[in-house]
Amino acid sequence: MSDRTRVTVSVTGVVQGVGFRPFVYRTATGNDLAGRVKNTGDGRVEIVLEGEARGIESFLSTLRTDPPPLARIENVTVEDGEPTALDTFEIVASTDSSGGSGTIPPDTAMCDACLADLRDSSSRFHGYWATACVDCGPRYTVIRELPYDRPTTSMAAFPMCDDCRADYGEPSDRRYHAQTIACPECGPTLSLLDGDGNARAGGDDAIAKAGDRLADGELVAIKGIGGTHLACDATDPAVVETLRERTGRPEKPFALMAPDLEAVESVAQISDTERDALEDTRRPILLLDGRRENRPDWFDTVSPGLKTVGVMLPYSGLHHRLFEHIEGPLVMTSANMPGVPMATDRASILADLDGVIDAALVHDREIVMRCDDSVARFSGGQRRFVRRSRGWVPESLPLPSPAETAEDVLALGAEFDATVALTQDGAVVPSQYVGDVDNPETVEYLRETVEHLRDLLGTDPDVVACDAHPDFLTTREAREYAEREGMAGPVQVQHHHAHAASLLAERERERAVVIAADGTGYGPDGSIWGGEVLDATLADFERVGGLSTFSLPGGTAAIEQPARLLASLLDGGDRIDELLLARGAVDSQRAAATVRQQVSQGINTPETTSAGRLLDAVSALLGVCPERSYEGEPAMKLEAAAVDGAVLDYDIPFGTRDGARVVDARQLVRDLDALADDHAISDVAATAQWALAGGLADVAVAVAEDRGVDAVGFTGGVAYNDAITRTIRDRVVAAGLDFLGHDRVPPGDGGIAYGQVAVAATRVGE
Ligand SMILES: [Zn+2]
Ligand SMILES: [Zn+2]
Repeated sequence: MSDRTRVTVSVTGVVQGVGFRPFVYRTATGNDLAGRVKNTGDGRVEIVLEGEARGIESFLSTLRTDPPPLARIENVTVEDGEPTALDTFEIVASTDSSGGSGTIPPDTAMCDACLADLRDSSSRFHGYWATACVDCGPRYTVIRELPYDRPTTSMAAFPMCDDCRADYGEPSDRRYHAQTIACPECGPTLSLLDGDGNARAGGDDAIAKAGDRLADGELVAIKGIGGTHLACDATDPAVVETLRERTGRPEKPFALMAPDLEAVESVAQISDTERDALEDTRRPILLLDGRRENRPDWFDTVSPGLKTVGVMLPYSGLHHRLFEHIEGPLVMTSANMPGVPMATDRASILADLDGVIDAALVHDREIVMRCDDSVARFSGGQRRFVRRSRGWVPESLPLPSPAETAEDVLALGAEFDATVALTQDGAVVPSQYVGDVDNPETVEYLRETVEHLRDLLGTDPDVVACDAHPDFLTTREAREYAEREGMAGPVQVQHHHAHAASLLAERERERAVVIAADGTGYGPDGSIWGGEVLDATLADFERVGGLSTFSLPGGTAAIEQPARLLASLLDGGDRIDELLLARGAVDSQRAAATVRQQVSQGINTPETTSAGRLLDAVSALLGVCPERSYEGEPAMKLEAAAVDGAVLDYDIPFGTRDGARVVDARQLVRDLDALADDHAISDVAATAQWALAGGLADVAVAVAEDRGVDAVGFTGGVAYNDAITRTIRDRVVAAGLDFLGHDRVPPGDGGIAYGQVAVAATRVGE
């Protein structure tokens, strides 16, 4: 026994609730090692190994190269010790089960092994929609608090049957210590309700009847893992139209769920990268380019006026079972009325969606925390999150060294597409998508999300951060957190600085010249910013250029009716009147004159530098989208109109503001109006995007070269525009500078909370 050695291995990261101990057990016994493994109260896994050095080496190699699928190993330490002649390997109960902090994995799609069980007629899990194992299923949305154990999850309501208890206790089983283990005998059950809430079917029959109803053109609410979808047959334009009418979404693109890759390819063209992302266990909705040829004739009812379509593959057992009864694809959109969070229990599904749904397929497991589907788009092989939510939350993101501080920070985001974010052990955990925080229901959801994250992470924030806008409900909430809980702050972070900081933090850079382009952000001068070039660090920023200032005739009316913007951007009363009338912004010559008067007298015409509004104005000018029915619609439709266009020969107009170089928005729109006289709309649209992107890139590159900064970044909601992103990236790279784009954080307002944390942590640490 003289060649025996002993080591103690400590593993940190996402290592609890992911089948780590059974993995260690199998790997250790497979290498003839004795010892033990246990979860510790602070979220680590501790392993003692005794045996031949070769076996220990092999164990450590497997640990690094082939850990359980849901594990995310951050750090492994190995300490030598004296062998004590252990002769068995044991899984030891965790010593400290008194609350504590840790890191849990996100919800993930049903794994292949569980799907095989679901389809195997000899398995006791055959047909069971809610089967799960240590490698798959819900986590974030069913856990109330740590440590992760069945009694602290919403599975506590379902005592295990004898068979499940046996599997749960068998170290060689995939369901060993799987807290969500369940079978038809003991687990959650389904019911199909009609629109009035009467139960019409249960169990397998509920799935079959729901499938039949979908195939018959009905609207069915489907309660899933972390939320509820409104579903209907995407190939049936009549029911999609009914969905639009009943939910008040005349033009909004709906996401699809396709049964398999073949079905995805019948709608969209996909690259290898996109195929991998679709099949990944995180199962996001991907925005894909629609097929150019043989596009299904129903495409435009799902994605009106757009060339892209959002598609995902089935991720829960219930989805797989439903597709046994309907061919699909299905429209699967979050089950909420505009503005408020989606319904998650039987009562609110029936109440919120009264008059909308024909039926509801529900189950009796509580959703502890909602988590909307994630949405991403690939551009030139680069991922851009539109929404980072299910499948990623609560994974942490880095907090770079300038932001290192002992203080824990809570950030509440901006107003639209909000997330919150919280620090934990020097990293940042952004929350799931919360939504538009402009109503009491969503404020309540924001509070619940903060509490859920605090419970899971064991973080007690010292500082609270928010947007600089004085009137946002998130700003008001931040003041209340500061007062009620004695947190320092609120640290108010300027909107575009938060965008820039999120990019710097994600890319672990200290400084860059950043183009921050979006719809709306409160500027320090009280005007509405949105087309900014900033020389930014985590601590501070300087506005060094951007887009010239123009006005919003009628304030928010100019956002709803982008044609109004033309009164501010164009010259010539007759031309403006003609466009306002033609684009439906006004209904008489007189009303058009009133809008022009507003502009000339400066009545209710807030000033802006918004790139989003400029794109809206061009969209209205070209008649692509004169009226907006959902956020981002005019710019998205402009992008679609420009896809097949060629950039015209054109000199980008520049001006100066406070000594800084800016793209001249008014001259640009006047030039585009002239070009539209004898060029195709698609060409003018492509030229508009190219000029905005090229102009902002030129300003940024010149500042970077002048100041010796080696990187130029691009962030903000406009960064979802593929053509604009490519133009900026190409110009930056051609100038020999590093281009910084987002990969793990949304460029839009979903990334603001992360940026706010980075700025606030840097400032309190100084
Ligand atoms: Zn599984
Ligand atoms: Zn059971």
